[in-house]
Amino acid sequence: MKKTPFIAVLLCALLFLGCCGFLGFHYQNLNSRFKTLETEAFQLKEDNSTLNTQLTESTAELKEKEDYVEGQKKYISELSEQIGSITQNSPSNTTDSEGEENSEDEDGSEDESEEDPFPNLYAEGASPQTMGKEKVAYLTFDDGPSNLTPQVLDLLDQYNAKATFFVVQKNNEEYEKYLSEIVERGHTLALHSYSHDYNQIYASKDAFLEDYEKVYDWVVEKTGYIPSLFRFPGGSTNGSSYVFHEITEEMERRGFMYFDWNVSSGDGSSLTTTENIIDNICNNIGHVPNPVVLMHDGSGRSATLAALPTVLKNLSDAGYEFRSLDKSVTPVQYR
Ligand SMILES: [Zn+2]
Repeated sequence: MKKTPFIAVLLCALLFLGCCGFLGFHYQNLNSRFKTLETEAFQLKEDNSTLNTQLTESTAELKEKEDYVEGQKKYISELSEQIGSITQNSPSNTTDSEGEENSEDEDGSEDESEEDPFPNLYAEGASPQTMGKEKVAYLTFDDGPSNLTPQVLDLLDQYNAKATFFVVQKNNEEYEKYLSEIVERGHTLALHSYSHDYNQIYASKDAFLEDYEKVYDWVVEKTGYIPSLFRFPGGSTNGSSYVFHEITEEMERRGFMYFDWNVSSGDGSSLTTTENIIDNICNNIGHVPNPVVLMHDGSGRSATLAALPTVLKNLSDAGYEFRSLDKSVTPVQYR
């Protein structure tokens, strides 16, 4: 009778210990699985954050590429418009034959500058440019002066580069000081417009001269320098052929010479990116002899300012010398 409770207690104790062992074993198992899951969750979190970073980077890259493409589209449409205007404003036969001749000339001079298969075949008096021994680029800046002009001037100085500034009148004492600086630092100060309002200035010859006289007087009063070069706002194809012919004839009679451009940076549009500007200049400059490059230093053209160091470096490395325009340079004129 005494043995029965003892055995019962023993059995209970054994059962209890068995249960504890069993539960302890499962607890350890669960704990280890929980830790594995925790590690996996942490890894997934890390992967997720890496993927998010990659996605953000790719989105930014895509946006940059989209901006670049938009900028190039604008540039191509600008060039197409320009070509359309030139074709419209020239007698068709002359345009075709001149166009072909020009492209042959361009191809020819480009070949010569790289490798001349006839190195002795030159008549006396051939210009250094014709012989391809000298590479000159004429950088031009329209629509200044502005807050960007001093930085442009400093960058040009770094490369001992001379350029040409086609200015628009600004009633800003700070900007006015930059006019004299342009002259003192060896660049050409040239005129662009007083109002830059196409409808107003291209209404007639007199309307153009009225506007031009204002910016001319402003520059002479502020600097004492008499400018002799100008650039038509929008270029010489920007308006009716008849009015342009009259304006040009009158301006030449007065001793002024105008310059268009044969390399455009495309920076006239706010869609143009810094990369667009670098590519537009550096990829096209080799295709024209004596390139006259259109850029802008008006307020807001920060993409141009950002592109300028690379443009100067690339062209300088390619052997270009940067000179300012004057009346001895054969003008680039669309009309
Ligand atoms: Zn302009």
